[in-house]
Amino acid sequence: MESIYLDNACTSFPKAPGIDQAAAMFLREQAFNPARGGYAGAIETGRILDRLREKLAKLVGSPSPGRVVLTSGSTHAINLCALGMFEDCARAKPRRVLVTSMTHNAITRPLARQASRGVIEIVEIPGDTQGLIEPSAIIEAIDERTALVCMTHASNVCGTIQPIGEVGRAIRERGLPALLLVDAAQSAGVLDLNVERDAIDLLAFSGHKGLRGPTGIGGLFVSTRAFDEKGEPSNQRLMPVLSGGTGGNTTEPIMPGGMPKRFEPGTPNTLGAAVLLAAVEAISDDERARSLAHERALISRLRERIGGTAGIRLVGADRVEDATPVQSIVIDGYEPTDIATILDQSFGIAVRAGLHCAPIAHATLGTLESGGTVRVSPGPHTTEQEIDHCADALREIATS
Ligand code: PMP
Repeated sequence: MESIYLDNACTSFPKAPGIDQAAAMFLREQAFNPARGGYAGAIETGRILDRLREKLAKLVGSPSPGRVVLTSGSTHAINLCALGMFEDCARAKPRRVLVTSMTHNAITRPLARQASRGVIEIVEIPGDTQGLIEPSAIIEAIDERTALVCMTHASNVCGTIQPIGEVGRAIRERGLPALLLVDAAQSAGVLDLNVERDAIDLLAFSGHKGLRGPTGIGGLFVSTRAFDEKGEPSNQRLMPVLSGGTGGNTTEPIMPGGMPKRFEPGTPNTLGAAVLLAAVEAISDDERARSLAHERALISRLRERIGGTAGIRLVGADRVEDATPVQSIVIDGYEPTDIATILDQSFGIAVRAGLHCAPIAHATLGTLESGGTVRVSPGPHTTEQEIDHCADALREIATS
């Protein structure tokens, strides 16, 4: 039986067309080390990074490619922020950090580490049972003592989209010092991102989910409010927590001030960059919009087919437009991980189950006690027949 892959929120599969050839081509012809040699090959490999940065900058609405730091993914990007914001304690005042109750461990854990060292005080803003946090609840909680506001753009558990723009613009309108960090792991390549429009200071994303690229590469957008080499100390709050060679400023013992090198020590993931570039170039904005519409239609179809079935609970936003295309499900009497095993072994369906690295989100959605949820996440290639097969399987499990 051929497997039906419904775990695209974990990592997209299949990947963007042609990226396997891009990987082979890079390894065959371009695998040099950029910024560490004046010969043609190294310069050409450096251009791959430049082109990727340009594409990513356009994708997130960054005013300049140099504001995009290449990372191994969202987790690395968020760590650069959660640790780098409070690296220099003399500068890092205030130190109150707001998080929402839909946060992934990629945010929760680095912040918890900082809190346990007494470096920050964390305040959690609760959401409703559909996973939505009222923007006013966040905005009212931001004060002069708040250094950082962390929001998960779209929940990996149920897809619920948060009003990041309302929060970002309110911070700027009120002239508050707080920076807005957005975890766009689930939204990059899926939803329209624009750091300028939405007044986002730091935006973390992965290349292997909605961008349909390889694992191990992603990025961090850094605004001039977070770090400006020539700015006031208040605009130099993000400090580098990783240091090493950058191919320049070699006699200096500290990291260079220029973006993005300041946050990119060591040999970069050039293979990942070449393959992510191919992935980003392979998919147009129109195609992305069509995929989103297709996947949301599939979620509606799944809901129509399993909604109302005794024992099945659909978790998340009521309207599919208010979420990225994922559906979390609880079936009474079953552990979510057992359902995933049955789906895999008896029906050939691959899904993720459990707490999805976001226990706080499950507490908000009321699914912590049930051991989390089963999450169905289709991709652009998922068909109606595959969704119907999944719906039939879930109904069969619930009614057996
Ligand atoms: N945040 C969210 C909301 C996620 O879904 C994920 C991936 N599960 C991450 C952060 C971490 O992304 P990565 O594993 O690519 O670093």
